[in-house]
Amino acid sequence: MRKKVIAANWKMNKTSDETRDFFHNFLPLVEGHDRDEIVVCPPYTSVDAALACSKGSNVAIGVQNVHWKAEGAYTGEISAPMLLCLGVKHVIIGHSERRQYFGETDDTVNLRLKTALEAGLTPICCVGEVLEEREAGLTDDVLRRQCVRAFHAISSKKAAKLVVAYEPVWAIGTGKTATPELAAEAHAVIRREAAEVFGEEFAANLRILYGGSVKPDNASSLMAQEEIDGALVGGASLDPKSLAAIVKY
Ligand code: PEP
Repeated sequence: MRKKVIAANWKMNKTSDETRDFFHNFLPLVEGHDRDEIVVCPPYTSVDAALACSKGSNVAIGVQNVHWKAEGAYTGEISAPMLLCLGVKHVIIGHSERRQYFGETDDTVNLRLKTALEAGLTPICCVGEVLEEREAGLTDDVLRRQCVRAFHAISSKKAAKLVVAYEPVWAIGTGKTATPELAAEAHAVIRREAAEVFGEEFAANLRILYGGSVKPDNASSLMAQEEIDGALVGGASLDPKSLAAIVKY
């Protein structure tokens, strides 16, 4: 059985004060919930507040990116040792907004992924097609390419903590959700690719999350799919009641 993960991607939202408010309201709603792993990824400036508020709870804190160098002249970047020192456990890698607006490529995703895994962090590696690719029938090819390049030169032993998120770009922040069946088909493609690279046993245990306009009212039908091992939630994770409702799908 793969334990599901419900991960919140706050993107560039919430000051540290707003983060404290969120946890004040959110934690009582999910207290004792251990069916799924719960991860909240605030912006870096709110990580300290999130860690302090969630201490001793069932909620882990992650971030939204990591650089592949440990230190040096990389203005604006954050390294794995910095995250470990804070107590961060998870990191989102290769989000489509990073690919779209900040020059993230399959190769830099691979560098970040290797670094996160070597540091013992749990990476949530995002893959997904844009609308034109889906309409041109290229979804499977795109997913295979993104996976092969992201997983390049990583051993199955090193990849043990890997989590993948299937995030069709056309469904992110648009209110359009992939149907559970369509998402499950894409997950199966990703799982097959993981089996090619890391082996069948690894692939059978790999958690693949769905992301793209997950809301309280569509979470249970998505989570009912055997292929879907949780959710990466953007907009709906900003409200404590809505994230709690998704956690309790
Ligand atoms: C995301 O950014 O990872 C995401 C899935 O966003 P949303 O839930 O808002 O579509």
